[in-house]
Amino acid sequence: QTIGDFFAAMARRQGVREALVSCHQGLRYTYAELHREARRLASALLGLGLQKGDRVGIWSHNNAEWVLMQLATAQVGLILVNINPAYRVAELEYALNKVGCKALVTMAQFKTSDYLGMLRELAPELALCLPAKLAAKRLPDLRAVVWIDVAGEGDDQPGMLRFSDLMARGDHDDARIDEIAAQLTNTDPINIQFTSGTTGFPKGATLTHRNILNNGFFIGECMQLTPKDRLCIPVPLYHCFGMVLGNLACFTHGSTIVYPNDGFDPLTVLQAVQAERCTGLHGVPTMFIAELDHPRFAEFDLGSLRTGIMAGSPCPTEVMKRVVSEMHLSQITIAYGMTETSPVSCQSSTDTPLEKRVSTVGQVQPHLEIKIVDPDTGAVVPRGQSGELCTRGYSVMHGYWDDLPKTREAIDEDGFMHTGDLATMDEQGYVNIVGRIKDMVIRGGENLYPREIEEFLYRHPQVQDVQVVGVPDSRLGEELCAWIIAKPGVQPAEQDIRDFCKGQIAHYKVPRYIRFVTAFPMTVTGKIQKFKIRDAMKEELG
Ligand code: ATP
Ligand code: MG
Repeated sequence: QTIGDFFAAMARRQGVREALVSCHQGLRYTYAELHREARRLASALLGLGLQKGDRVGIWSHNNAEWVLMQLATAQVGLILVNINPAYRVAELEYALNKVGCKALVTMAQFKTSDYLGMLRELAPELALCLPAKLAAKRLPDLRAVVWIDVAGEGDDQPGMLRFSDLMARGDHDDARIDEIAAQLTNTDPINIQFTSGTTGFPKGATLTHRNILNNGFFIGECMQLTPKDRLCIPVPLYHCFGMVLGNLACFTHGSTIVYPNDGFDPLTVLQAVQAERCTGLHGVPTMFIAELDHPRFAEFDLGSLRTGIMAGSPCPTEVMKRVVSEMHLSQITIAYGMTETSPVSCQSSTDTPLEKRVSTVGQVQPHLEIKIVDPDTGAVVPRGQSGELCTRGYSVMHGYWDDLPKTREAIDEDGFMHTGDLATMDEQGYVNIVGRIKDMVIRGGENLYPREIEEFLYRHPQVQDVQVVGVPDSRLGEELCAWIIAKPGVQPAEQDIRDFCKGQIAHYKVPRYIRFVTAFPMTVTGKIQKFKIRDAMKEELG
């Protein structure tokens, strides 16, 4: 089945049930309405001259238009390209050209970001005509720009089409939609998503219907979603987390999606959960922390909550415990995954013992395989020992877009995706993520895991945040270096940190270099880029 088939069937069965609530837009759609509007949009996209296999970018925060684009493109075999709204001119140019986007849907403006302005800066020729017959110099493939008028008004934009005007051109009865849909198979590419760029340049992972529809379905199963569930999704749709674990998990189970906001903001999440009686809430660890620590947290009745997913980066046990006890999310689970695997490979389920649910990333998802291997020899390591997590099954991406060498590097001949993550597995199959291979430090032949040292240094009362990396050393190969952000108002000395380590951790785990900083280099999604810390240290140390 394709995403289009699946949604059409759901619209027939669950037609009158609510599919989507976009709180910040004040919009509500039933399954039948959403299906009808998605077909109208699909017809309109075909009217722009787009054909099966063409790439269409969406560069926007969460809104109803985003979902319509996801469903419309899937119906007629267009490949949706998720573009992070935090991207700026150079990143946009890279993403659009990397995959040859023919059309782009974006917001006009958002807070201080002028999206159409950035586009014009890249391609002033766009203003000439639409669909553009002239190729823009810096965006040679782009033919059409559609802008979402979030506020419901706004001036016409020369050369660019208003989303509502595009919709008006479509016809949900368009016979071409069924004709194209009948030719689609579930192994057709349907989506390109860029990785976060934590370890280098973002890579465009090409995903099929089969990849993401199944992953959404199995996540919905593990959360035991039903048509009664209402899932609050503050995580962005431009990532698998929102688009698959949010949208597709709900759509495959007839549940309702609730978008509390466009661009994360803890207060509107709390308001939406209460007002919409949400039963589930997703988030990355920092979002849950911001919600729990919000000064008005206690005012809200969150009693309707039961389930949700925390994922995306290491999920501290403390935060999981607070979420369970203070937010009523007694069935929340941690998931582990990556863009290239649609995304989830490991998860716990609602019946996993709490202790395991808060402290591990769970077990392998049904129908997938995982193994933990020695990165050098490829041999499976004994239980409890760390190695590279490799996974095989329906979830492994089609490949990196137009990059066979990188794809071959990542997916081996047996079909295993090499994740680059270091993990351990216990006797019962519970997995722990230890860190990334690229971050592992080998000091004098000893393998050191920065995450372990970071967790130890966090406990220092004056340390707010800490990152540990390896830096080259002529004698030992590598030495450890810690970058520390101190808590507000305190200025710990290097010696305080060293004294704190003394007798507590092995001497070779005490960082040779300690630096106090005010911020870490981050990706636009807020992940810390250790490679930039390493580069800065290399420069400093010469
Ligand atoms: P890039 O591949 O461009 O360097 P990235 O790997 O951060 O960036 P994503 O695909 O968004 O891009 O993130 C996947 C990575 O996030 C995983 O490989 C893993 O390192 C980390 N991750 C995801 N979930 C968890 C989790 N539950 N615990 C620990 N780490 C996690
Ligand atoms: Mg990655």
